[in-house]
Amino acid sequence: MNTYRTTSGERIPKSVIDRKISEAKRQKINQMLEEYGYIFCEECGRNANSGVPIDCSHTISVDEAQKRGRAELAWSVDNIKMRCRLCHRIHDKNNLNYTQNESIGERLCTGNRKIRVAGKFRIA
Ligand SMILES: [Zn+2]
Repeated sequence: MNTYRTTSGERIPKSVIDRKISEAKRQKINQMLEEYGYIFCEECGRNANSGVPIDCSHTISVDEAQKRGRAELAWSVDNIKMRCRLCHRIHDKNNLNYTQNESIGERLCTGNRKIRVAGKFRIA
């Protein structure tokens, strides 16, 4: 089982990290719904009605956080931004250290809304 270090030196199993990431994404979505009442791209302001999916996107990638021994960034809500698919792609292309391909299509339910939340994209 893979483990990754946090800043405090603790070793966290990957399965625990993944679960914490899902929780952090849910929390991020809930925070946004509470604060604004809807989900939108924090880069360009597009909302889900625009036809472009809104994704949970890591500012510092999960892969990078794990490699740098800062695993806690993977589940830090402050390190997660809502980005529309277009801004998400731009962000990931600009991230030269990008290597991670998280699973796409995780469905999160928040109340009676269903929001499709993607992780990272494979860059073709
Ligand atoms: Zn956007």
